[in-house]
Amino acid sequence: MSKNQNKTGSYSFFNCIEKNFDKAARFISIEKGLLEQIKACNSVYRMHFPVKIGKEVKVIEAYRVQHSHHKLPCKGGIRYSMKVNQDEIMTLAALMTYKCAIVDVPFGGAKGGIKIDPQTISSENIEKITRRYTSELIKKNFIGPGIDVPAPDYGTGEREMSWIFDTFLSLRSGDVDALACVTGKPVSQGGVRGRKEATGLGVFYGIRELCHVKEDMYSVGLDVGLVGKKIIIQGLGNVGYHAASFFHESGAVIIALAEREGAIYNEKGLNVSKVFLHLKNNGSILNFPEAKNIENTEKALELECDILIPAALENVIHKNNANRIKAKIIGEAANGPITPEADEILDKKGVIIVPDIYLNAGGVTVSYFEWIKNLSHVRYGRMEKKFRENVNAEFLKVIETVCKKKISIEEKKMILRGPREIDLVRSGLEDTMINGFHKIRDLKKSLKIENMRTAAFVLSINKIIDSYEKLGIFP
Ligand code: NAD
Repeated sequence: MSKNQNKTGSYSFFNCIEKNFDKAARFISIEKGLLEQIKACNSVYRMHFPVKIGKEVKVIEAYRVQHSHHKLPCKGGIRYSMKVNQDEIMTLAALMTYKCAIVDVPFGGAKGGIKIDPQTISSENIEKITRRYTSELIKKNFIGPGIDVPAPDYGTGEREMSWIFDTFLSLRSGDVDALACVTGKPVSQGGVRGRKEATGLGVFYGIRELCHVKEDMYSVGLDVGLVGKKIIIQGLGNVGYHAASFFHESGAVIIALAEREGAIYNEKGLNVSKVFLHLKNNGSILNFPEAKNIENTEKALELECDILIPAALENVIHKNNANRIKAKIIGEAANGPITPEADEILDKKGVIIVPDIYLNAGGVTVSYFEWIKNLSHVRYGRMEKKFRENVNAEFLKVIETVCKKKISIEEKKMILRGPREIDLVRSGLEDTMINGFHKIRDLKKSLKIENMRTAAFVLSINKIIDSYEKLGIFP
């Protein structure tokens, strides 16, 4: 196996995306060289820096890749994992470019990564590494509100984003827009309400939309709607946990949850918040009282179910297990969970795959809202909430007078309410996910494209071409 090959197939991760891109290119008539420009990674910054951990100096390997500058700033998460490597970060940066285009977020794609295992490093040392990484990015002009704006990803969260912001501010003091140098911050540090759960909620909105399309549901032998659908979720981190919670609340049945150490199964359904509490208290999902353990966590993916949501890492569905997958729908909450070989096998089986470049775009969509909030220096809803409540109250008075009927206090509360930040963020996210789904589906139908992934790439590449053309870069 060559250095470029991954354990599950004959392609590097970047090759996988190129392969998907090439499938879409068949539906686009534009000069080959221009497509090559869209595919290529514009800037790759690989760094090594020393950090003193205990009495030893450790050399840390890290990356920031800016895949496309067709729109600025660049945008993409930062992951902490021992699996981080250049190929992976380049691929994830490319996915960000295509993702942003699909959901009309005006950013180029980027991604960052630090090769560490945050589970084995103290929080003081993670802070040191994060701050040093940020100052390396500042030195090379790889971070800034109009340059490149990181966000959380696998192994990082609000805490790391706060450290990045604080380091940026201390080295760029007086920059009035400094808050917009990173998204996914805690609300008290300029974050936006609704960012934490945004990716999982976006996954939920996307799958819910699919489940309401009669034609698609009948094509895989399922009834319309989410209620009662049997769902398996891999990864109970930020994305997986929130997606699981929203599915559970909507009446779907979460029959299995898989984590690193094993999976748990209950045909009648798992209570997601109880499982999460169990995980918090015991450090593992295993031995949850209302479920059976499955020791080999990968086996959970192969159980009978309607919808499978991989929400952990890439390449978890590959040519060796694709034939055993029984799900009718796979929602790619993680980035790149299905290898190209597995994709072909599943396509032949008629499985509907809702692709990552659309389905997990909720995070970057709400990151975009956070960035706008930071640049406008005002909370969403602050200017209009009271005004809207006053208008609603006047409107209600007129209705009561005309109808000669008093409306109950409960109804009044609901009607009078002006929009809060969380309401606006969620409605913006819901609208984005619904529109994105139908744009992909309509294109798939009109061009007779074989699957949603290729249709999503066609939609995205066309938007990027349009943007380059308007810039005068493509003739
Ligand atoms: P996270 O670190 O919060 O959670 C990942 C979870 O997966 C952890 O609980 C981890 O223990 C679990 N896991 C790791 N290996 C596993 C295995 N082999 N089997 C089962 N579980 C395993 O990360 P996250 O932010 O939830 O990201 C998950 C995926 O979603 C990644 O592919 C990431 O790139 C993608 N994503 C995240 C965001 C975001 O906003 N956080 C946005 C878009 C895409």
